Amino acid sequence: MGGGDEVRNKQVVLRQHVTGFPKEEDMAITTSNTIKLKLPEGSAGVLVKNLYLSCDPYMRNLMNAGTGMPGYLPNYTPGSPLFGYGVSKVVDSGSPDFKIGDLVWGITGWEEYTVISSTDGLTKIEDTSVPLSYYTGLLGMAGFTAYVGFHEICSPKQGECVFVSAAAGAVGQLVGQFAKLLGCYVVGSAGSKEKIDLLKNKFGFDEAFNYKEEEDLDATLKRYFPEGIDIYFENVGGKMLDAVLVNMKLHGRISACGMISQYNLEKPEGVHNLVNVVTKRLKIHGFIQSDHFHLYNQFRDLTLRYIKEGKITYVEDIAEGLEHAPAALVGIFKGKNVGKQAVFITRD
Ligand code: NAP
Repeated sequence: MGGGDEVRNKQVVLRQHVTGFPKEEDMAITTSNTIKLKLPEGSAGVLVKNLYLSCDPYMRNLMNAGTGMPGYLPNYTPGSPLFGYGVSKVVDSGSPDFKIGDLVWGITGWEEYTVISSTDGLTKIEDTSVPLSYYTGLLGMAGFTAYVGFHEICSPKQGECVFVSAAAGAVGQLVGQFAKLLGCYVVGSAGSKEKIDLLKNKFGFDEAFNYKEEEDLDATLKRYFPEGIDIYFENVGGKMLDAVLVNMKLHGRISACGMISQYNLEKPEGVHNLVNVVTKRLKIHGFIQSDHFHLYNQFRDLTLRYIKEGKITYVEDIAEGLEHAPAALVGIFKGKNVGKQAVFITRD
């Protein structure tokens, strides 16, 4: 196909703002959009072909009505394509930092081709000796979140007792492995037997439990942490956070990464045991990974080394085809994904 040809651009658009659990029908696949495979003269951005898309929990928040939270990505607009992290190939470039054929990861559209007018958030992929899909998760935003949320926010030490919720997800599986590499005692929670098996037998967690089968989470945590928890990597919020608060050790740290159990509720659940923050002198530290992006190269080099030394492994759940992206995204809120949920669009 010659440069400048106009092609059909399949897209995933938001049909309407969402309340409650998102449904596949909240999104639509459209083929009416066309795009010229050449940037207009003078453009400073890039035109990319999208190869993989990442399904991430924060995307649910962008489906809400309103403009979005300050300092965060703007909410989606009904009738327009969704956007999120992805791995793409540069098809045309007006930027001195990217050339045609470069592989990049960063925020792109949920469509076959995207014009990215500001390249500030794009990262060039230099090492392609690992699966390209890793840049949607392990070596992309989710993996970096695990690194920042554990190493930077928790200041972990060898021998400490670490609890990770949503532990089999994109972030949690790596937090647990980082904690094991440091010599911590690590327990994870997840929502199915298959995930518990992965945590114990593939990712090397010391213990893991299915939170859906536990009637009394406080008693469960006491069973796994008889002397209490030093570090809680918080991915879910709600009842789990309440049970954790009473099981934290004195001077424990909570890395508040996310609270997925609350994202689809019209009225958030309350937290009842907050007084433990005072009596146990706890530190709860919320963070957003992008605020720490200056550490990305450090994280990437360390993680690539761990992968090549066989010290880290990663499980992905990859849906095939843009038309399956809505189901894949909705699935993460039901725990259907086993490992990092991504969508494969095309090889190149
Ligand atoms: P993920 O791989 O998409 O996994 C999400 C998992 O959450 C699901 O597979 C499900 O697993 C679990 N889940 C869903 N609904 C739940 C509920 N009601 N209660 C308990 N667990 C539930 O997620 P991720 O990408 O690892 O993200 C994990 C957390 O980190 C999310 O809260 C996300 O918002 C947050 N995050 C924060 C940042 C940041 O910068 N702060 C960046 C990335 C992600 P089960 O089968 O175990 O239920």
